[in-house]
Amino acid sequence: MIYLDYNATTPTDPRVIKAMKEYFFEKFGNPSSIYEIARENRRDIEKAREKVADLIDANSDEIFFTSGGTESDNWAIKGVAFALKDKGNHIITSQIEHHAVLNTCKFLNKIGYEITYVPVDKYGVVDIDFIKKAIKKETILITIMHANNEIGTIQPIEEIAKIAKENNIYFHSDCVQTVGKIPISVKKLGVDMLSLSAHKFYGPKGVGAIYIRKGTKIETLIHGGEQEKGKRSGTYNVPGIIGLGKAAEIAKEEMEEEMKRVKYLRDKLEKGIIEKIPEIVINGHPENHLYNTLNLCVKYIEGESILLKLDFEKIYVSSGSACTSGSLEPSHVLLACGIPHEIAHGSLRFSLGKYNKEEDVDKVLEVLPKIVEELRKISPFWEKK
Ligand SMILES: *Cc1c(COP(=O)(O)O)cnc(C)c1O
Repeated sequence: MIYLDYNATTPTDPRVIKAMKEYFFEKFGNPSSIYEIARENRRDIEKAREKVADLIDANSDEIFFTSGGTESDNWAIKGVAFALKDKGNHIITSQIEHHAVLNTCKFLNKIGYEITYVPVDKYGVVDIDFIKKAIKKETILITIMHANNEIGTIQPIEEIAKIAKENNIYFHSDCVQTVGKIPISVKKLGVDMLSLSAHKFYGPKGVGAIYIRKGTKIETLIHGGEQEKGKRSGTYNVPGIIGLGKAAEIAKEEMEEEMKRVKYLRDKLEKGIIEKIPEIVINGHPENHLYNTLNLCVKYIEGESILLKLDFEKIYVSSGSACTSGSLEPSHVLLACGIPHEIAHGSLRFSLGKYNKEEDVDKVLEVLPKIVEELRKISPFWEKK
């Protein structure tokens, strides 16, 4: 099979699996207990925390383990909304966020918060002037993602963080698509909170973390025992946390090599598709994008039908985001970029990663033009054009 859907999830690195393994049976203790096997687990969890902190240039006491990106996003947004409800009820986000952010904001809107959705340009870059004008005295939080999971566009996070700081507003960034892929420093970015998820960079599913800058006023969402300084209760997911730590360590070591290798493959794929298939629209920012992501629209046919034909060849890609697949609405991200409905329906996302080889790209370049030609032959839109 050829897997080209790394933005949806990644296979767990065998070295990560190996590191996790002994925490299921030999080292199964509950870290909150006081005997030796528990104390040992506690030490190992703290080592994992340091590795995660190291990957994003944070202090380890600013890292809290969660069940993944969705929980981290929920915590950052609701946590600040609840903690600062006497200060204000206005939150600024963008039109192209992941549903973990969009639906959290939608919920808050239902209970009395006001949400402003910042528009983006045709490349998917947020409108900074719009953010400046949207700020008012009730604004308590700005949350803008780092790189978009569908089109790969990278946002000017440092600039937005500066605006937030000048106005004494908290700033959160969903960095699930960038942590582990590109170098990240919470200090350089200037964020108060940042979400990350293990399974997007070769760690296990169901575990992630949030960075919360020391001193940030944030309410707890998961009440219970005293885990994570009482801020996020629940028995530690020890194997998951160990896996996240190992994935962070590997990412830091191997990132530079991977960036070059995968960028070459993605760019070759883009160039080949443009050469071999007429009437293609490339989505996202032409330069400022994730090096592994290629999103495009094949005019006059549906992305879903291409996807099924590729599936038949055991080539796995995505048409829009995993959450919107299955619905007939085209991606909210592409629509926000101003792409007309009929073109947005033809979208395909290739996202490459560690286990892709050049042969994978060559195979797609051999198969895809034929599939598109077949589908266009039976498309009434292609005929009429
Ligand atoms: C995958 C993803 C999430 C959700 O993370 P989970 O760990 O799967 O809950 C949130 N935001 C972005 C940008 C993502 O790509």
